[in-house]
Amino acid sequence: MRLTPESKQFDVVVVGGGHAGAEAAWAACNLLLPRFEESRGALGRVAMVTMDPGKTGAMSCNPAIGGLAKGQMVREIDALGGLMGLATDATGIQFRVLNQSKGPAVRGPRSQNDKYRYAAEVRRLLGTRPNLTVVGGVVEELLVENGRCVGVRCKGVPQADGPACETDACCGEFGSIDGVEKPFVLRADAVVLTTGTFMRALMHTGPRKVEGGRVGEGSAVGISGELQRLGFELGRLKTGTPPRLAAESIDFSGLEEQPGDDEPVPFSDMTVLDAFPRLEQRVCWITHTTPGAHDAIRANLDRAPMYNGDIEADAGPRYCPSIEDKVVRFADRASHHVFLEPESLSTNEVYCNGISTSLPADVQEQIVTAMPGCERAKFLKHGYAVEYDMIWPHQIDATCMTKRLPGLLLAGQINGTSGYEEAAGQGLVAGVNAVRWAEAVRRVEEAGGDARDNFERFVLSREQAYVGVMLDDLVTKTPREPYRMFTSRAEHRLHLRSDNAAWRLTRLGRGLGLVDDARWRVFERRDAQANATTNGDMDEPVVRRYLEGQRLYAGYIDRQRRELARFAEQEHAALPDDLDYAAVTGLRAEAAGVLSKFRPTTLGQASRLAGVNPADLMLVSVHLRKREILSA
Ligand SMILES: Cc1cc2nc3c(=O)[nH]c(=O)nc-3n(C[C@H](O)[C@H](O)[C@H](O)COP(=O)(O)OP(=O)(O)OC[C@H]3O[C@@H](n4cnc5c(N)ncnc54)[C@H](O)[C@@H]3O)c2cc1C
Repeated sequence: MRLTPESKQFDVVVVGGGHAGAEAAWAACNLLLPRFEESRGALGRVAMVTMDPGKTGAMSCNPAIGGLAKGQMVREIDALGGLMGLATDATGIQFRVLNQSKGPAVRGPRSQNDKYRYAAEVRRLLGTRPNLTVVGGVVEELLVENGRCVGVRCKGVPQADGPACETDACCGEFGSIDGVEKPFVLRADAVVLTTGTFMRALMHTGPRKVEGGRVGEGSAVGISGELQRLGFELGRLKTGTPPRLAAESIDFSGLEEQPGDDEPVPFSDMTVLDAFPRLEQRVCWITHTTPGAHDAIRANLDRAPMYNGDIEADAGPRYCPSIEDKVVRFADRASHHVFLEPESLSTNEVYCNGISTSLPADVQEQIVTAMPGCERAKFLKHGYAVEYDMIWPHQIDATCMTKRLPGLLLAGQINGTSGYEEAAGQGLVAGVNAVRWAEAVRRVEEAGGDARDNFERFVLSREQAYVGVMLDDLVTKTPREPYRMFTSRAEHRLHLRSDNAAWRLTRLGRGLGLVDDARWRVFERRDAQANATTNGDMDEPVVRRYLEGQRLYAGYIDRQRRELARFAEQEHAALPDDLDYAAVTGLRAEAAGVLSKFRPTTLGQASRLAGVNPADLMLVSVHLRKREILSA
C-alpha cells in the first residue's frame, strides 16, 4: 500500500516487526477489521513501521518456539486468536512435549522451526490483513499533543529491490511494502513501541564492537534520547547468541540423537491434525563441552566483554547464561551439554544451543573444535553479545500502556523481558489495548470527557494466564535481569496448563473480538465433545488431553476456585490513578514511596510490591473508603 498524504492517519501505529510487533499488529488489525470494512478502507487502519520489513518475524537467536512455561504461553496466545501458534505449526521441523513423563501442568510443548520459513509465514499471515500497511523506516521521535502520544516521526530508509528474504522460502504477499526514503510522519491515536534489542544496540565479539541489534542490522539510536527527553527511566540489558556451524562439517555419527515425538502435538487449535506436521521433520544432536575448552575460557575471561567491563549493561539473562558464565558459576562441572539444532530445511546452518558467548573468535573456535563431532566444524557465524536500552517496566501498567504518556504502549524486550513467546504475549495485550485506547479517544472526541475514563482496559489476571502472570510481575517487581517465564512464577500453575488454554481463553478472545468464526466453531465443537464425554463419547486427542488434566486436578481446581472467590475482592479492587499516597494517614514512608513509584492499579498488585505489607494495604483501603464516603 503506497503512503500518500491522506493515508498517513492510522488508528494504531506499531513500531517494530519482531515477535511483539507482529502480534500487536495482528491483534489490532483483527479488532479493527469491522471498522475498516464498514468505512470501505478509510478507517480502522494499522501501520507497522520497522527498520527492515523483510526481517519481520525474524528469530534473532534460537530457531525454536515454546518450552516449559513458554509453550503454555504460545497456547494462550493461540487460544486468544493470536498469530504465533499458527506460524509455528506451519514451519516446525521438530515437535516435542517437554516433561512428558510429568503431570500435565508442567508439560511444555516445544518446536524447532525452519527460521526462514517461520519469518516468511509471519509475513504471509500479516499480509492477509487488508487493513495493515507495512512501512520501512526508523522511528526517531514520538508526536505528543495535549499530553497524549499521537504518532511517530520516522527517518526513512532506502528499500532494496524485490523481497528481502534470505532463502527462496519467500513471502509473496508481503512484497506490498513501500520504502520511504525521506523523513515522514505517521499519525495515530495509539502507538505500540516494540524495539526489542535495537535501542542504542551494540554487538560484541571479544574486543570487536559493531553497532546493531542483530547481526547484519542497524541500531535505533534516536528513540532512546527521545524517550529520555520525555522523562522515561531507561536501563541497559544484555543477551548473547552462540555460533552457527556448517552441517556438512560436523560428524554426527557418534552423537546422541534427539528426535521429535512420534505423535507430534500442534500449538494451534486451528491446525488440521490430519495434515500435521506440514514440513519434513528433523532430529537434533547432543554433544558437550570439554575440560580443555573450559580451561581456554578461564584463560581468556579478560577478553570476554561480558566480564572485562566492556559491556556497560546491568545484567544478562541468568537463566540462559553464556558459556563463560556457566564455566565461572559452575566451576566444578567438567562439561555442559550442547544441542546441535538445524536452523532450516533450506540451509546448512546448525545452531549450537548451550554455548552463547561474547568471547573472541579464536576462543570460540577452540571451544567448538573440542566438542565431540565438531573437530572439523566450519563456522558460518561467530557468537556475539548485544547490549541495548530498555524501559524499566514500572513505567507501564498491566495493559502495556505507559503511565507517563497515554497513547504510548510498550511490548516485548523493551520492557526488560527475554524470549519470543514473552514478547508475543505482551504484543497481543498491547495490540488489544491500543485499539481500545483509540476507541476511547474517538468517544471523547465525539462526546467530550477524558479518554482515560473511557478506556476499557484489557488485563489478563494471574489466575487466567501465564501472560497475566508475566505482566503482573513486570509492573510490580521491576526485573533487574531479562525476564523469562517459568512455571515456578505461576502460583496457579496446575490450572494454567497447555491442554486447557482454549477453555481458559477462547471465550474471552471471542468476547474481545479476536477469535474469528472459524476458530469459534472449532472451540464449540470440542467443548461440546468435552461435555458429552461423561457419556463416553469422545475421540479427539485435544479433548482427551483436556479432560485428563481436568480430572487429575479436579480437587485442586475446586479448592482454588473457592479461594479465588474469597480473594477476588481484594485482588481486583481498583486503586485510582490520582491517589496521593503521601496523604494516606499512618502509611510508612517506604510504602508510600514504592506505591507512588509503581502506581499499582489494583490492591492485588499493591500486595505484591516489595516494601508494601498487609498493614499498609489496610491503611490504603481505609483511606479509599473515607474518600468514597466524602465524595458520596
Ligand atoms: C543476540 C541475541 C541473543 C538473544 N538470545 C536470546 C536467548 O538466548 N533466549 C531468548 O529467549 N531470547 C533471546 N534473544 C531475544 C529474542 O530475540 C527477543 O526476546 C525477541 O526477539 C524479542 O522480541 P521483540 O519483538 O521484543 O523484539 P525484536 O525481535 O528484537 O524486534 C524488534 C523490532 O523492532 C524494530 N525496531 C527497533 N527499533 C526501531 C525503530 N526505532 N524504528 C523502527 N523499527 C525499530 C526492529 O527492526 C525489529 O523488527 C536474543 C536476541 C538477540 C539479538
